[in-house]
Amino acid sequence: MDLQRISIKLYAQPESEVEARDFVPVFHSWIQNQRIADHLLIDVADYAHVPDGPGVVLVAHEASYAADQSDGELGLLYQRKQPQAGELPERVSASMQAVRSAAESLEEEDDLKAKVQFDRRRFRFIANDRLTSPNTEASFAALKPALSQAAAEFFDHDQFTLTRQGGPKERLSVLVEAVACPALPTCGLALAESERYVPEFLGLVDNLLDDAGLGGEEIIVRMTGCPNGCARPYMAELGIVGKSPGKYAVYLGGNVAGTRLARLYNQTVPATEMADQLRPLLERFARHRHEGERFGDFCAREVWPEIEIAI
Ligand code: SF4
Repeated sequence: MDLQRISIKLYAQPESEVEARDFVPVFHSWIQNQRIADHLLIDVADYAHVPDGPGVVLVAHEASYAADQSDGELGLLYQRKQPQAGELPERVSASMQAVRSAAESLEEEDDLKAKVQFDRRRFRFIANDRLTSPNTEASFAALKPALSQAAAEFFDHDQFTLTRQGGPKERLSVLVEAVACPALPTCGLALAESERYVPEFLGLVDNLLDDAGLGGEEIIVRMTGCPNGCARPYMAELGIVGKSPGKYAVYLGGNVAGTRLARLYNQTVPATEMADQLRPLLERFARHRHEGERFGDFCAREVWPEIEIAI
């Protein structure tokens, strides 16, 4: 894939108390000090008044950095303009390094300190060139190895999902999300294990899928160590939320597009009983799914009505 126009967006944490306009003086000071290595910083364009617009753009010769709000969420968007050296994995990694480094610098700025933190559990990749990289399964497959390498470097582990978004008339866009939040021992709010439990849990789901004759089926799983939901379990097809040590709530029925909230299926499931909880669901999915139907859609269609009756 001969993609050069690489864009990567890191999202501001939802609790960040910052607006795109707050970036204007910071970006101007970056131009004065030529703050970013290997980039000639030129100008600041303020579109913050445009709803869901490009926000505030720091224009450089090589790329632009924007306090972007074009998809309805504020984040830092890096858009490469000039060609980079190396193969695609090196180019994607270099762009990822550029946006990460800028995000870290913004978090340290006096004017923004304590106002903005960027989410280290997800980012969006956009191929800003529909000619070399149309929004097709073939392009997505060609991009995956390079994007997976950059994601593994970003998250420092390989428990993440890549979700292609948008239609054929839109740019190829991929949402990359960590499967689990850090939880214990890093997060003081954690009630249960998450990042350290998720490899075992994913292995369990794989085994249950194999047993049900669904080997290779993709299910979007997200897990967190407490109900704060930092890894977005409430958007997952199968969401697991820590309630107390070794016990989790199970949510079902989110969708790939992230436009439908999952619903609570079971308030408290001990990790030791997770297989007993999930096995009948997956066997039922294998027997009663419509052709090509995903697990989340199946749960919304067939399991949700029973949850409502139970409530
Ligand atoms: S979901 Fe809870 S445990 Fe996980 S990182 Fe967020 S606050 Fe911490």
